[in-house]
Amino acid sequence: KDAAKESKVLRAGTEPTFAPFEFQEKDSKDFTGFDMDLIRAIGKQMGRDVEIKNMGFDALIPAINSGNIDVVASGMSITEERKKAVTFSDPYYTSGLAIIVRNDENNIKSLKDLEGKTISVQIGTTGADKAASVPGAKVKTFNTNAEVFLELNNKNADAVIIDRPVGAYFLTKEGKGQDKIVGETMDAEPYGFAVKKDSKLAGEINKALGELKKNGEYDKIYKKWFGEAP
Ligand code: GLN
Repeated sequence: KDAAKESKVLRAGTEPTFAPFEFQEKDSKDFTGFDMDLIRAIGKQMGRDVEIKNMGFDALIPAINSGNIDVVASGMSITEERKKAVTFSDPYYTSGLAIIVRNDENNIKSLKDLEGKTISVQIGTTGADKAASVPGAKVKTFNTNAEVFLELNNKNADAVIIDRPVGAYFLTKEGKGQDKIVGETMDAEPYGFAVKKDSKLAGEINKALGELKKNGEYDKIYKKWFGEAP
């Protein structure tokens, strides 16, 4: 093994049930998606191999702090709360939350309509925080988004709160014909790559990201996953 290269491996943590940002290929289980392509391209730009580690969403920030991973690449929204624990790169995608309900649901059209309802969310996410802010709502949390959507489609929850592009992608796949998005996208949530607090890695990632934006590689990856230029 090449020791010098080994020490340069960039270990990226992800929770891979968040298509089209991170998910696993059906047969090979390879990690794929917008974030996966982008972090690999960033690593390449930095001259470092990228190793992807699969972990729970709520385990990602602790893994940064314990040194088990170098960077979070997991559709993580840049929030003031998280900024107390980690440092974020420049934003690389602008997202926002949306509400998903079953097709047969006609009474839920906004956050207000979720009062007293049962909401299914992924643990540790901004969607979970949003659900917890709804008066009288019962919030059910799960480790994976597969479970989050199953709860809705098994009629054990009235709605899901999740990042809109992930909900929209689900509606073109397993959720097709079963579920729909209702209402407007909530506040804009920029995604960033999280690193250890004040680590110089943030600057290195920003530099690589800037280069990928300049040389067209970022646009290429964006277009591959979202079908249009950013
Ligand atoms: N963007 C949301 C958050 O940061 C959800 C991320 C995710 O589930 N991977 O909390």
